[in-house]
Amino acid sequence: MSSQIDHLLTETRRFAPSPEFAASAVGTAELYERAAADREGFWADQARELHWHKPFSQVLDWSNPPFAEWFADGELNVAYNCLDRHVEAGLGDRVALLWEGEPGDDRAVTYGELTDEVKRLANVLTELGIEQGDRVAIYMPMIPEAVAAMLAVARVGAVHSVVFGGFSADSLRTRIDDAGAKLVITADGGYRKGKVSPLKPAVDQALADRGAGPQLTVEHVIVVRRGGNDIEWNDERDLWWHDVVPAASPDHEAQAFPAENPLFILYTSGTTGKPKGILHTSGGYLTQAAFTNRVVHDLHAETDVYWCTADIGWVTGHSYVTYGPLANGATQVLYEGTPDTPHSGRSWEIIQKYGVTIYYTAPTAIRSFMKVGRQVPAQYDLSSIRLLGSVGEPINPEAWMWYRKVIGGKKAPIVDTWWQTETGAIMISALPGVTETKPGSAQVALPGISIDVVDEEGNRVGEGNGGLLVITEPWPSMLRGIWGDPDRFVETYWEKFQKQGYYFAGDGARLDDDGDIWLMGRVDDVMNVSGHRLSTTEIESALVAHESTAEAAVVGASDETTGQAVVAFVIIKQSYLDAHSPDGLATSLRQWVGEQIGPIARPRDVYIVGELPKTRSGKIMRRLLRDVAEGREVGDTTTLADTAVMSVISAQLK
Ligand code: ATP
Ligand code: MG
Repeated sequence: MSSQIDHLLTETRRFAPSPEFAASAVGTAELYERAAADREGFWADQARELHWHKPFSQVLDWSNPPFAEWFADGELNVAYNCLDRHVEAGLGDRVALLWEGEPGDDRAVTYGELTDEVKRLANVLTELGIEQGDRVAIYMPMIPEAVAAMLAVARVGAVHSVVFGGFSADSLRTRIDDAGAKLVITADGGYRKGKVSPLKPAVDQALADRGAGPQLTVEHVIVVRRGGNDIEWNDERDLWWHDVVPAASPDHEAQAFPAENPLFILYTSGTTGKPKGILHTSGGYLTQAAFTNRVVHDLHAETDVYWCTADIGWVTGHSYVTYGPLANGATQVLYEGTPDTPHSGRSWEIIQKYGVTIYYTAPTAIRSFMKVGRQVPAQYDLSSIRLLGSVGEPINPEAWMWYRKVIGGKKAPIVDTWWQTETGAIMISALPGVTETKPGSAQVALPGISIDVVDEEGNRVGEGNGGLLVITEPWPSMLRGIWGDPDRFVETYWEKFQKQGYYFAGDGARLDDDGDIWLMGRVDDVMNVSGHRLSTTEIESALVAHESTAEAAVVGASDETTGQAVVAFVIIKQSYLDAHSPDGLATSLRQWVGEQIGPIARPRDVYIVGELPKTRSGKIMRRLLRDVAEGREVGDTTTLADTAVMSVISAQLK
């Protein structure tokens, strides 16, 4: 089967950075030249922006692919880089975290205060017997202690596994057992959607009743008081953060660890199947997280107020809340709750309150803001914003334009950043002071990163064609493996293009005539209709461009005549639902897609639904919709935000 993906939509709008923006931008055109001339030297320069207790002499060791080592004989301490060195440089009074609780309580934490807290917690960890290489599970709300916990674990050379606070006791248990965690750091509860969502009870449940399952490895649980909810207490095992941390010594000297010391395990979102436990290490990861945060987000640490809305339970929260911004000495907003609590203008209220200059969020959030309408953000002063970012899914041109006009005041450049849990940091993005941006395209590989689009055999498809996205050279923040499963690591990412030594990302992509990259959705989701390979992204974009549609997901379902047929699930804006019949809407949408992109893409079925199945990080799980469309039993739903959604959708289809 050909891997060519038929390209159906056209987009001709272009936005160049303003001369003022370009003049003071952190990322410049010279970076591309430097990296092209000497890739490893380029990354060595970026690594030297960090503090190395022991400098490295070798940059990359790729003698045993696909197992890379970066800066391997160098030694550093990740937490020292994010904290102490700023304090030692006289920046102890700079605010690191502008924390906003969901109920409206707030707290500013300086670099000095955060360093003090992390040092004390590091002493507690050592007293509890946590050593280099031990695993610690973190299951917390978005509060400053969550960031402190990650850094304290890193400081003592241990490995964290952050589990999203919205996950069930079962998911937590699986992750604790998979990592063999010795310690869990949690809170009694945190605020979500206007009420306290309990966490400690889920930890108790995850640690209880082991039955015939794996033996319990957890020795202690540290608990932050946040929700004030009633919890049970195990005197032998549980410790209150407020008892042990303030009582611990504030003196803690950061020890140096090898660059390849494991830093964290983190599970992928589970969009395409069972989540994979991705392993990242220290020196290369921190180098690329910090570098990309500077050049892609155009971070001027002295003046910017940065806000990345990701939860620390996702890789975006690791690289662009905790590690990148703190390594760069940034001041950032950390928000505990959901963007629609207690009202739909909450995000804009926070931007106005703190004067946020850089705002980084996901297309799913942007589409939900669009659904509510531009009159909501219009009530707030968003003029401080000078850069917008998007991550997690392809951003439809329609949503991109709305983001630019309504949130960015038609002036802030938008960076659409493509990357994965596995890549550790941004790989494809515009540089906001250099690149002329195009709505819907993630555009170009960053300096020092080698990306290509190839066919099934690994041959370059060339400009104007679609195929499979690959990374052709190792990169500093690349995953070092799947925890406990080296075979799955090789199979999943490296076997397909073993001959060429390429990393296979699992995403379809297209190169346009300018050589810009367009992400076309998961390769697993590409549809084959009468021999035409169609991308989910393009048909969804066309559906969302219709005035009645708030959101859309498209899948290929088996079809007797065409092989596969396009089946669309759409959420209609309330005002349209009130005024039109569902059948009429479905017919107009089928026709609309036919007009926008051609008859071949016209959906066989359009189902109007109230919700779409999404991961907790907001990605659409098309594989579950395909199960429904083909009448199969629905697959793994453990990372679904709302597991009831699937039965509602199935019922609607009957
Ligand atoms: P799993 O691997 O378990 O199926 P996942 O791939 O959703 O889950 P993540 O690592 O969180 O887990 O997501 C990475 C994926 O998100 C990418 O492979 C890509 O499909 C999508 N993605 C991220 N950013 C972008 C972007 N800017 N444009 C298009 N797609 C993106
Ligand atoms: Mg993936």
